[in-house]
Amino acid sequence: MWKADQETVIVEAFINGHHVPSRSQSAKENPADPAEIVGYFPVTTKEQAVEAIEAAAEAFKIWKKTPIDERIARMRKAIEKIRAAENEIVHLLSREHGKPLYDAHGEIYVSLMWMEFACNEAASVLQEEVQEHDHGKTILSYDPMGVVAAISPWNYPIALSTIKIAPALLAGNTIVLKPSPFAPLAAAKVAELIASEFPAGVINVVHGDADVGVELTRNPLVAKIAFTGGTATAKHIIKAASETIKDMTLELGGNDAAIFLDSFDVQDERAMRRIVISNFLTTGQICMIAKRVYVHRSIYDAFVEKYIEAANRWIRIGDPFDANTTVGPVNNLKQKNYVQGLIEDARQRGAKVIPLGQILDQQRFEQGYYLQPTLVLDCDYHDPIVVEEQFGPTVPILPFDDVEQVIHLHNESIYGLTSSVWGQEEEAILVARQLEAGTTMINTAAVQGLDVRFPFGGFKQSGIGREYGAEGIRTYTEQHVINVPKTLDLPYIPE
Ligand code: NAD
Repeated sequence: MWKADQETVIVEAFINGHHVPSRSQSAKENPADPAEIVGYFPVTTKEQAVEAIEAAAEAFKIWKKTPIDERIARMRKAIEKIRAAENEIVHLLSREHGKPLYDAHGEIYVSLMWMEFACNEAASVLQEEVQEHDHGKTILSYDPMGVVAAISPWNYPIALSTIKIAPALLAGNTIVLKPSPFAPLAAAKVAELIASEFPAGVINVVHGDADVGVELTRNPLVAKIAFTGGTATAKHIIKAASETIKDMTLELGGNDAAIFLDSFDVQDERAMRRIVISNFLTTGQICMIAKRVYVHRSIYDAFVEKYIEAANRWIRIGDPFDANTTVGPVNNLKQKNYVQGLIEDARQRGAKVIPLGQILDQQRFEQGYYLQPTLVLDCDYHDPIVVEEQFGPTVPILPFDDVEQVIHLHNESIYGLTSSVWGQEEEAILVARQLEAGTTMINTAAVQGLDVRFPFGGFKQSGIGREYGAEGIRTYTEQHVINVPKTLDLPYIPE
């Protein structure tokens, strides 16, 4: 096992069971200290991407016939390997990504929870159904699709790779994974650990950005695209895949709202802590983080006061390896500049920007891609900081006057990933039913309310399809109906 907190880690493309050397490598820096190179990853060529897809297509011929029990047994061994390597993986993830150690452990926790759920459920979810009925007999089977191109983003590089790898393989497909160039190392290591339990060609890993991504999304041998990333990127993918009408699961951006009804108790310190975490976990870089907060005007002032107290208690910005740190740097400079631009724009429009939390290590803060978390008040409902996905450590809090108004504000967004409603439970559920979102949580938000047993995905431009739950396994299959009709001749067709 590599010494993840010391060594420079080198990953290669992994094709048909072998590491494939590449002519050109990119460096991955540590966002908390960009002078430190954590590792190198290859720039996969188009030819190598094609090689990976062809290896997956060849492996599919055998893998699709492998009994489900064997697929599950192999995946369970892979889970054990990940568990045994957890500390090394977490250290590498934290160094390349910038997320604090507890948060990196959290990512492994969620990844394994899902992989185990998928192993436990796969046999029954994929079980073929046989029905004897008035018209004869029907067999409905869930057949594997073929080669899956899995493309993941940088914010949860392991969780959003394993969310695809586990169900795709359990359903009998083979896969070509492309992690994000902003966090490629730990995801590649985890994919290789899993691959070591499977026949050559069943899992292949390529690296790079849009060039390789384009090949994965247009190659005729690819049957399905499983993509998590930005909505703008998804529009390119849809175009590329249209040539051969590929099946797709798209998990995209969000601008998730948290709605605090007048029945919410602002004195509830645990609830205040939960909303702060729902805004700033992983430095706000989560698709399902609460990115705009609406508070009923009758409790608005008291809410803001208590929010600031809770945020100042929980947010400790520092070195991801420091156990006291709750918030690390932004993952990359481009994202930091983007979020800073949104905050500056809000300030210029007259908003009040309040810094939150304490900086534990000023020197590190200045060295890395750090951005002090901020609360933005007095902004307009349609300012960019409110309607755009910030994906960083800032959040606007706005007052609302009545429930109809806040439901409208929620639903007018082009996004609809998750949302949350806080207050008296029945009242909150009534509001939740009227929100256009794939998941709505009551009195909590973001990953604190995530349940891998149920489908996850978005309305509108937040995506197509669902991951997690039984649906997140079946989405890697084609439904195949075999009909044996009792009466073979249709009565209305003349002799
Ligand atoms: P991104 O869209 O920039 O990149 C995602 C992946 O797509 C990367 O691997 C990238 O290399 C690849 N890619 C880029 N151009 C491509 C192309 N033309 N063809 C094929 N692949 C291409 O997203 P990001 O910045 O890595 O991630 C942040 C975004 O992801 C945010 O919008 C966030 O909300 C979203 N996200 C959504 C979910 C969800 O479950 N809905 C989860 C996490 C992140």
